[in-house]
Amino acid sequence: MISQTETKKEENAVNLPEAKFSDMKINPKILKKLEELKFTVPTPIQLQTIPVGLEGGDLIGIAQTGTGKTLAFGIPIIQKIMDEKQLALIVLPTRELALQVDEVFQKVGRSLGITTAVLIGGAAFGPQMAAIRRHPQVIIGTPGRIIDHLEKRHIKLHACRILVLDEADRMLDMGFAPQIKEILKEMEASKDRQTLLFSATMPDYIAAIATKYMKTPLRVEVARAGSVAENIEQEIYFVKKDQKLRLLEKLLQEHTGSVLVFSRTKYGAQKICKELEMSGYTAAEIHSNRSLMQRRQALDGFKAGKYRVLVATDIASRGIDVTGIQLIVNFDLPESPEDYVHRIGRTGRAGQKGRAISIATSDQQHKIYRIEMLTKTKMKVFGEAKDLPRASQGRSHPSEQRHFFKKRQFRRGSGGANRGRGGAPGGR
Ligand code: AMP
Repeated sequence: MISQTETKKEENAVNLPEAKFSDMKINPKILKKLEELKFTVPTPIQLQTIPVGLEGGDLIGIAQTGTGKTLAFGIPIIQKIMDEKQLALIVLPTRELALQVDEVFQKVGRSLGITTAVLIGGAAFGPQMAAIRRHPQVIIGTPGRIIDHLEKRHIKLHACRILVLDEADRMLDMGFAPQIKEILKEMEASKDRQTLLFSATMPDYIAAIATKYMKTPLRVEVARAGSVAENIEQEIYFVKKDQKLRLLEKLLQEHTGSVLVFSRTKYGAQKICKELEMSGYTAAEIHSNRSLMQRRQALDGFKAGKYRVLVATDIASRGIDVTGIQLIVNFDLPESPEDYVHRIGRTGRAGQKGRAISIATSDQQHKIYRIEMLTKTKMKVFGEAKDLPRASQGRSHPSEQRHFFKKRQFRRGSGGANRGRGGAPGGR
């Protein structure tokens, strides 16, 4: 057992000695299932968290999206249900992520007798009640709807021994702090509770939850908080606002695979999707103005290749786990640098190569700067980006026109020399 807070860090996943799931104390039936699914080598977060999870310890996993987080908590939960008849509650920020996590539990756990209920907002109560009546071993849900069911006394959490808070930073960003507190309080009664908290970033208020509600958690960090996968190539184009759509179409012509486009607003997403359809692309949109059915249909269609382009807003994008997304386009820069990390984590999943292209206007240099500060990504300057207007110079600089489609490319650990040469655009 873990007697005090410890920290394990693995800055570079590639340096980990190759281990196998079969080296961990995983139930042979689960191992067989993982083998069938062609999962033999644990990802770094799995390697470090599964043993702790199986031992019953609390942990905080700081991991970027697409690192295999779901099985990192999923395998211990399934094993504890099989061996110790425990019950688990998984709280996460969005409906999409809930369905995604449920899919993983179905894939690995269904044939092992694991039952789940998905309790998400925007869906009818009837089927959720029916699922609750079947006494699920795992409840997966969004904070608001879980509270609804608690208040209506449809569910009780006192028998629940394992609590997962997935994408905790995002839940707090979305204003779910009161609901999370209520859930944590509700579960305080279960003395031997095990809490597994996952987050891509580690703001102070999450550290505070950990101190108050967790038992000397082990902190596992497979990559620095806010880091982006090494295998994602990141580029940025500076254009005028009215040139963005033209650039997007140009990028779609240059790439052949599936593309996920991020819009800042739902109206923007609608507009982009319409424009792309008019230009002959197969595109679907996913944002909060769409019903749950429409969102599922869009996501399933994107996964199946029916739509080449999926246009999403940040909140709706959580849980989009589609392997093989070739390109992420940030049509608008995200509101927060943390969102940038989440967005581009949709490409380059599980070790594959990925590409992320951001489109910005010249007055957004400060946003790029904040992203770089969080991701600790050094910028490599290509072309004549040094002539780009500084952030303080405001909008519509005449040089913008000359630099239409000029791109700056940044990769981790490179470009220090260029930064000096390029005069660090953005007035840093
Ligand atoms: P997650 O971070 O849980 O959303 O997982 C990201 C992707 O990695 C999903 O498509 C998983 O199916 C895949 N994945 C998870 N664990 C492994 C593993 N050990 N080996 C290969 N792929 C994995």
